[in-house]
Amino acid sequence: MDIEIITTGNELMSGLTLDTNFRWAADRLTYLGFHLRYHTTTGDDEEAIINSFNIAEKRSKAVLVSGGLGPTPDDLTAEVASKYFGVPLELNDSALEMLERIFRERGRELLEINKKQAYLPKGSRILENFWGTAPGFQFDKGEVVFFFLPGVPKEFRSMIEEYVIPELDRKNKARKRHKAILIKTFGLRESEVAERLKGFQGTGIEIGYRSHFPEIHLRITAKAKYQAVANRLLKETKAEIVRRLDYYVFSTSGEMLEEVVGKLLRQKKMTISIAESCTGGLVAHRITNIPGSSDYFERGVVTYSNRSKEKMLRISHHLIETKGAVSAEVVECMAEGVRKLANTDLGIGISGIAGPGGGTVEKPVGTVFIGISDKSKGTFSKRFKFRGSREEVKLISSEAALDWIRKFILNDV
Ligand code: AMP
Ligand code: MG
Repeated sequence: MDIEIITTGNELMSGLTLDTNFRWAADRLTYLGFHLRYHTTTGDDEEAIINSFNIAEKRSKAVLVSGGLGPTPDDLTAEVASKYFGVPLELNDSALEMLERIFRERGRELLEINKKQAYLPKGSRILENFWGTAPGFQFDKGEVVFFFLPGVPKEFRSMIEEYVIPELDRKNKARKRHKAILIKTFGLRESEVAERLKGFQGTGIEIGYRSHFPEIHLRITAKAKYQAVANRLLKETKAEIVRRLDYYVFSTSGEMLEEVVGKLLRQKKMTISIAESCTGGLVAHRITNIPGSSDYFERGVVTYSNRSKEKMLRISHHLIETKGAVSAEVVECMAEGVRKLANTDLGIGISGIAGPGGGTVEKPVGTVFIGISDKSKGTFSKRFKFRGSREEVKLISSEAALDWIRKFILNDV
């Protein structure tokens, strides 16, 4: 079943807005095993839209149209569709009801201009919008099904999940069953991952590499006629990949590293505090991006100056003077200092040279020390040497810290 996506909007044609609807839908549909064959983009231009419908109807079985369903005059899609299908625009009762309900719930008055959105080509099926006011609609023209979806990405996506995919499935019984997972790794280069997976081949298995700095992600897709077979293939493949990549794998279900760390801390009922220098609070930021992190994250301090390290974490002036702020001794004191200050199970200290200036022969740009202090196991540190821009060094340092916390909790100091 050939599928075509038509994205409309002047903002797309002018290059002002990136066509993320296409990107998302293509990824999602392909992943599910649908065959996406064409993609067209037009401006808010009646003639261009009609032409695109005309061409799509001849070459595709399902056409997904995004954009132009809003209440303003540049939103033409419903009108153009009614012209194209040769049916009048008609007040759709359930669309009007939906609009009235949404406006009531938001305590806003339904204006005449908003009612425009309740007029759909006669014979369409309304697709309810859970996130906004523009209803979508489906129109079957002979063998070809057209879906008209809002341009707002969140609304577009939810309508695809709620209506388009189930409807395509009904019309396309032969779709192969797919199952995919996202394996995330840190610490190996792409070529090293490939080297470790060399010779690994499974029938019905596809492995896609994606570098997502500083991580390498692997999308593993299993395809089979039956879902149970795809599931089994995937399970076996996952086990083999984890065996080969070992502790470099931090998630086999697409979780973020900070999520994995959070789960481990919660599982072990451990609390953590962090003293950051070169990462400027990035580790704390990432940890607190996870809902519920207050269960295990006590505090994060950014001790950027030497003075703040001395005053706040009680690190001796002499130690910083003799060893340098970027040193194993100082990060160990940072880790221990913040742990005691916060009275947590773990304390982390990070100090490094993010660049572009500040490097020396002994400690070039990208040199980063990370310390971990554990209430019972003691205090440890590691030295790293990263490459990249200032921003990249900060990001990879935060990653290395989180990854070490993960391994540390898993008992792999
Ligand atoms: P529309 O439904 O055409 O009024 O679009 C509403 C808003 O959604 C636009 O102002 C854009 O910001 C956004 N949008 C529309 N189409 C796309 C697209 N293909 N990809 C990403 N954003 C879009
Ligand atoms: Mg638009």
